[in-house]
Amino acid sequence: MSKKKEEWGPHTHCIICGNAIPEGEKTCSEECAKKYESEAKRYKQQQKMSYVFLILMGAAMVGFLLLSYFFAGG
Ligand SMILES: [Zn+2]
Repeated sequence: MSKKKEEWGPHTHCIICGNAIPEGEKTCSEECAKKYESEAKRYKQQQKMSYVFLILMGAAMVGFLLLSYFFAGG
């Protein structure tokens, strides 16, 4: 008896809707690609924002240290 099994081979899944797609691809269709792009854009923007926030915090900290140094050194 020979049961025919469909061989999928190396494949991955669409990161948006989960469809099976060839390995190396990220999305199954243009629609999903667009969705993914906007998601990635938003994610990058968020990262940029937190990066800017960190820099601002660092600058504020340094400024505060300098101020206290000048006041203490008088
Ligand atoms: Zn998809």
